[in-house]
Amino acid sequence: MSQFRCPLCGGVLTETRSGLRCPAGHCFDRAKEGYVNLLPVNRKHSRAPGDDKGMVAARRAFLEKGWYAPLRETLAALAVELTGSAPAVLDAGCGEGYYTGGVREALLNAGKTPEVAGIDISKAALQRAGKRYPGIAFAVASAYRLPAADGSVDLLLNVFSPLAIEEFRRVLKPGGVYLYVVPGARHLWELKEILYERPYPNEEKETPYEGFAYDRIVPVDYTIRLPGQEDIHALFQMTPYYWKTPKEGTERLARLKELDCRISFQVHVFRRESIKNPAARFKAAPAPPVLFSVTKPAAVPAPAAAPRPLPPDTADR
Ligand SMILES: [Zn+2]
Repeated sequence: MSQFRCPLCGGVLTETRSGLRCPAGHCFDRAKEGYVNLLPVNRKHSRAPGDDKGMVAARRAFLEKGWYAPLRETLAALAVELTGSAPAVLDAGCGEGYYTGGVREALLNAGKTPEVAGIDISKAALQRAGKRYPGIAFAVASAYRLPAADGSVDLLLNVFSPLAIEEFRRVLKPGGVYLYVVPGARHLWELKEILYERPYPNEEKETPYEGFAYDRIVPVDYTIRLPGQEDIHALFQMTPYYWKTPKEGTERLARLKELDCRISFQVHVFRRESIKNPAARFKAAPAPPVLFSVTKPAAVPAPAAAPRPLPPDTADR
């Protein structure tokens, strides 16, 4: 039996010779790289949604060099700490599976028997993911319509992907953990200083979501030294700035021999609340207690204007 559910009727999917099939007869082919396509044709907004091959290749090359390894290690450590012996893990927006694979490896090394799945709308990303991580179930699917049963997931990952909070609430078990990675205020600051006359910091905020309780926020802060144009350009291509930088900024970047750049992530750790009294969920919840403190870089001049938050689907990668 597959971890995935039929995206058309919600039925249990079973393995067939060519892919997956539900009791109502909906069939989904498995690609040669191992992933299944669960995105109904009419739900695609374009012929090839999601990141294209060039973006995927650049990100893969950058990640494989370990520049974001501290984030992967942080997610892996949280996964080990916060799950039981046989957790069901779902990475919503898994890309090439870099974080998904890191989490699974850490769970296995900790003696657990995880069932790990990842979804993404980019076929190009899953072609790489499927080849690289054969022990993980990958599917082309939308985070806004997760191919997973209600209350079936112990650990949900969302690393720079759309925030489909209603779906996350639906699929997580009561007590299940949701790891939400967002960029910190000064993430990629030195890169932004090159690209823009007046860069803006990212907004940092704690957002309570109905049905979720904050466990903690884990900051991941460090500086990388990119030794040449290959890595600098790969980083640039991974960011949303790639699509909206003025020509002068791109030219300044192309002249750099190296770049010291601040990396700053925040992992927001939530627990899916179990609601004993269903009526209670409609009452206004009191402000959550502050269980954590967020470290902010010191001695940074205040921005001249209010920060502009990026829309969730273009968040920094
Ligand atoms: Zn079906």
